[in-house]
Amino acid sequence: MTVVPELAAADQPAPIAMDAPLQKINLLGLALADLEAEMVALGLPKFRARQVWRWVWRHGLSSFDEMSDLGKPVRELLAAHFLADRPAVSRRLQSVDGTIKWLIRFADGNEAECVYIPDKTRGTLCISSQVGCTLTCSFCHTGTQKLVRNLTIAEICGQVLLAMDELNDWPSGKPERRLTNIVLMGMGEPLFNYENVATAMRIIMSGEGVAISKRRITLSTSGVVPEIKRCGEELGVNLAISLHATRDELRDKLVPINRKYPLAELIDACRNYPGLSNARRITWEYVMLDAVNDSDEDCRALLALIKGIPSKLNLIPFNPWPGSPYICSSDERIKSFAKRVLNAGYASPVRTPRGRDILAACGQLKSESQRARRQKTGIAG
Ligand code: SAH
Ligand code: SF4
Repeated sequence: MTVVPELAAADQPAPIAMDAPLQKINLLGLALADLEAEMVALGLPKFRARQVWRWVWRHGLSSFDEMSDLGKPVRELLAAHFLADRPAVSRRLQSVDGTIKWLIRFADGNEAECVYIPDKTRGTLCISSQVGCTLTCSFCHTGTQKLVRNLTIAEICGQVLLAMDELNDWPSGKPERRLTNIVLMGMGEPLFNYENVATAMRIIMSGEGVAISKRRITLSTSGVVPEIKRCGEELGVNLAISLHATRDELRDKLVPINRKYPLAELIDACRNYPGLSNARRITWEYVMLDAVNDSDEDCRALLALIKGIPSKLNLIPFNPWPGSPYICSSDERIKSFAKRVLNAGYASPVRTPRGRDILAACGQLKSESQRARRQKTGIAG
């Protein structure tokens, strides 16, 4: 049995056995209170947690060797029990417009996407909350993937750290930081993985760590009404709603969760979203589908539906995928729709497609990778 002398001598509980094989815990999945509990369980004083926390979340360290205010025995003890590993990158692509896309591989071999989108005044990271999605929105490729599981807290936070590593954003909180905003608009329905998403966002928001404020985080949901209020009360992040249709009959088809939580309930939950104001508006996402939801009448209905709710509108040109049953609205239609929206007082509403040359639009890289694999293995698809 190996005993760590420094610790055994201190006013701590029993010496620690280190020769049993251990399943190491990934620190990236621990909130500060959990990390404190782990330290105490190891016989270390609680304040060690804050030291480790700052190294991991402020300085981006993944190796205990570099944690210079911890003695060697403590570092060794920590290294024997914990790791701070990011997920692996199975593919990385960079667009001419600066967009970077990572296809991320988790320890079990599952993959999800993460995209960094630089802009003049901000750098936004789009992260995933699940592998696949249990919902089956008819225009979304993610919804066609069979395999679904929730991402863990460590896997959600790991996407942010991985991006910060690449962007040279350590120590966090630099005025010139490149990653300034986060959107939960990658794969999955974040409100179906609420607990993990909430803990991960609290970790990322922590002022002693990555310190991205709730005002710079936007969670996009297809409309899981019961979790919306909670999200506002507990996290206070910005809310985006995948609206896409203004009549139940059409929305039932496009966003089938509408059958469970119809428009009236969704709009009501949004109207009452905690903290809503002109400075904190709901973002309505509206995918432009040719001859499906893009008429002048659709636009009028959209403006009527959100009237009185502090709102931003995001018109998203549809990104086709192999076998998708829709086509994108024409440029003229999108322009005309956007003009009506502008005239109603909503600013710059069309989401400019970014990273088209690297297939960075929703769901595209994952489908590419699956296609490549099928070609390699000779499976048709
Ligand atoms: N599940 C959540 C968040 C991920 S989807 C949600 O649905 O809100 C992020 C956004 O991309 C959603 O607004 C979704 O409707 C949109 N989207 C999905 N597939 C798309 C496609 N093929 N073209 C354009 N937008 C798409
Ligand atoms: Fe899931 Fe969102 Fe895609 Fe719908 S749009 S299938 S909720 S990821």
